[in-house]
Amino acid sequence: MSPVFRFAPSPNGYLHLGHALSAILNADMAKARGGRVLLRIEDIDVARCRPEFEAAIYEDVAWLGLKWEMPVRRQSEHWDDYRAALNRLDAMGLVYPSFESRAEIARLVADREAQASWPRDPDGVPLYPGHAKTIPPAERTRRITSGDPYAFRLDMQAALRRVGTLDWMETGGSPQGQIGTIAANPAIWGDVILARKEVPTSYHLAVVVDDAAQNVTDVVRGRDLFYATAVHRLLQALLELPQPRYHHHRLILDSDGGKLSKSTEATGLRELRAKGAMQVEIRRLAGLD
Ligand code: GLU
Repeated sequence: MSPVFRFAPSPNGYLHLGHALSAILNADMAKARGGRVLLRIEDIDVARCRPEFEAAIYEDVAWLGLKWEMPVRRQSEHWDDYRAALNRLDAMGLVYPSFESRAEIARLVADREAQASWPRDPDGVPLYPGHAKTIPPAERTRRITSGDPYAFRLDMQAALRRVGTLDWMETGGSPQGQIGTIAANPAIWGDVILARKEVPTSYHLAVVVDDAAQNVTDVVRGRDLFYATAVHRLLQALLELPQPRYHHHRLILDSDGGKLSKSTEATGLRELRAKGAMQVEIRRLAGLD
């Protein structure tokens, strides 16, 4: 079977050079290996994703000279798939509802930190400090039926007990430059959210379900997602899904050394195109060739 790659942007802003690097690397690697590239629209964030950003993705990716297969998978059209995966994890007893608001979580973290330091995940976010796992079943049911909004979290300790050691094949490199077999350590993320209050999935669950549904064999994406791969491997193991190879590429940083988040004149693909930049120049700006 020929390898399957994917470029999976979120339509919550315009694409920048970092996206170009990802898209071009996917295309180059697929070409070198006789594989295909799929485009996936990761639009689960209903509050931040907008149709004009999605339209711009198609325009910008076409302008980069990339071809993709139709139909494009749009995550917002696949809630049932994510719900089914969530139900499976729930039936395994690995999922629980948590009702706290962001403000309540921040307060719980502050309480914990008043006593001692409280662990943070690789993105710098404090681990879930709450007790929702231990809410008695009757109380849980009462809160759900009374319409309290809730997210679903993975019971990390219970999940880890069900799987053996996990690893993945990395060809791009960890932030420390390690390649080859990487030991996965999902515990550092704590009880991650699997379904948000407003949608029946989270980034982690959707990406794992989609990569399997689309028979993706090679995940090529930015190094900012390196550590998230541990959660993805855990979910793949629990849901008995195949394991892709991973290639986490370097990030393009802004002039202050920070992560590129917004498109600006210097790095936005639309802006560069408007200034008359050509594909070769985008490759050069992205540090390719
Ligand atoms: N949608 C994610 C992003 O735009 C990429 C997810 C992935 O490649 O796994 O950052």
